[in-house]
Amino acid sequence: MKLVYDEHFRASDYAQDNAARPGRMEAAMSGLLGGPWDIVAPMPATLDQLRLAHDADYLDQVAQEPARFAMASLAAGGAVLAARLAHGGEPTFACVRPPGHHASRTGAWGHCTFSNLALALLVLRAEQRIDRAFVIDIDAHTGDGTREVLAHWPQAEIFNPFAATAAEYLELVEARLTAVQGTDIISVSAGFDAYKLDVGHKLDTADFRRIGTLVRAAALRLCRGRRFAVLEGGYFLQDLGANVLAFCQGFAG
Ligand SMILES: [Zn+2]
Repeated sequence: MKLVYDEHFRASDYAQDNAARPGRMEAAMSGLLGGPWDIVAPMPATLDQLRLAHDADYLDQVAQEPARFAMASLAAGGAVLAARLAHGGEPTFACVRPPGHHASRTGAWGHCTFSNLALALLVLRAEQRIDRAFVIDIDAHTGDGTREVLAHWPQAEIFNPFAATAAEYLELVEARLTAVQGTDIISVSAGFDAYKLDVGHKLDTADFRRIGTLVRAAALRLCRGRRFAVLEGGYFLQDLGANVLAFCQGFAG
């Protein structure tokens, strides 16, 4: 597995929200440092790449805030790099911020700016590397932005599992991943706010490992193991590192 990360993501002055909180990226990375994966630094997404997912007016609007634009471009570039590495055969986790799954073509909310994961898939498609994509969004919140950005692409399937209990949640994830018929790549909007001590009040650390394992198995069955994940939410900093690590252990195999 490869890990996409850059020290720039530690800067917390690009926005005033929970995802931009000081120490959050350090917490997310804390379990991963020293693990059996290479860290690769991304380049910012180019304007041409950003235009695949966003309207020019919205890009102009974000550009009025240069620090936010720079950080969000780097996050989107991180997702693009993760998608390319995954397509080349390297499972990859992109530890980036701001998150992206609430960013649509014309706007964003919920601590997001650019639609990182959807944009990365659109780049692969524009490069004619994939025709079909499967997205599983395990954040506690629905990835409404991802849905909107990919709405015109019928072969992009998006799954937001929701269930009352952790056991039901895992059953649902397993059933859906087992039912997928064909895809060229599997991508994960990897939010960790469904954690039992975070806003979602549901999943345990071991559950994140299990989800990673299920995604890996599905990717091996469907698309020669091609898979990448992009960090979304996750705000209980004390255990964020353990949860990210658990997911990556299952995901990497
Ligand atoms: Zn969330």
